[in-house]
Amino acid sequence: DLPPLFIITPTYKRPEQLAELTRLSHTLMHVPNLTWLVIEDAYKRNDLIEELLSRSGLRYQYMVAPMPVEFKNKTRGPKPRGVSNRNKGLQWIRQNAKSGVFYFADDDNTYDLELFKQIRYTKRVSMFPVGLITKAGVSSPIVRNGVFSGFYDGWIGGRKFAVDMAGFAVSVEFLLLRPHAVMPFKPGFEEDGFLKSLSPFEPKQVELLATNCTKILVWHTQTKKNEPSLPIDMNKYNNSNLI
Ligand code: UDP
Ligand code: MN
Repeated sequence: DLPPLFIITPTYKRPEQLAELTRLSHTLMHVPNLTWLVIEDAYKRNDLIEELLSRSGLRYQYMVAPMPVEFKNKTRGPKPRGVSNRNKGLQWIRQNAKSGVFYFADDDNTYDLELFKQIRYTKRVSMFPVGLITKAGVSSPIVRNGVFSGFYDGWIGGRKFAVDMAGFAVSVEFLLLRPHAVMPFKPGFEEDGFLKSLSPFEPKQVELLATNCTKILVWHTQTKKNEPSLPIDMNKYNNSNLI
């Protein structure tokens, strides 16, 4: 039997949301023994998302976890995007999962099905390259002679774990042995803070996937935003998510 896989996906309402979740749902439909935890940065659930998830045939949980207002109302500087969502997902896993592996999969990235095959056997924390991120083009553990020897990232920022959210997966049992592990509301340091909270755990203990980190199996794609305009009666597009 395949170990269970839990995919934690933060999402939030914007015109592109249904397109992103449609694409991701169609990827996940190809992955066996999977539970999709979709957590929206909102105060209440959206019927259109519920309908999309239901139609997918996937095993899913749809929850909400709004960004705290102190961050939401910030006018300058980056916000901790998706953090309350991911912590809600971690809470669900603590309450409902006993074994398997979880992975933070943002709604807008692009995932090779091979990724899900490989992360499923994570014993502690596995890592692998993420493509199309920053001007560096890729973020990845550096592997020398099959051994971890540092992080390559466009922004190291003094981090112990200089990785992107899409670049690691974690064993459920490993998490359950660390009841205080949590993601901090600290823009730029979400991954580092979470991985540090998995202490005791050191970078050299990372399980290196994607053929010793020589293959890109996930891309940090970002969807271009259009200026929203409502030239005609949008009410007829009752699945537009715009109104
Ligand atoms: N997100 C969210 N609330 C927000 C902004 C983003 O829940 O206010 C989610 C978003 O759906 C995505 C994740 O958090 O799954 C990361 O956001 P985004 O893709 O915008 O960040 P980036 O591509 O810059 O890492
Ligand atoms: Mn993104």
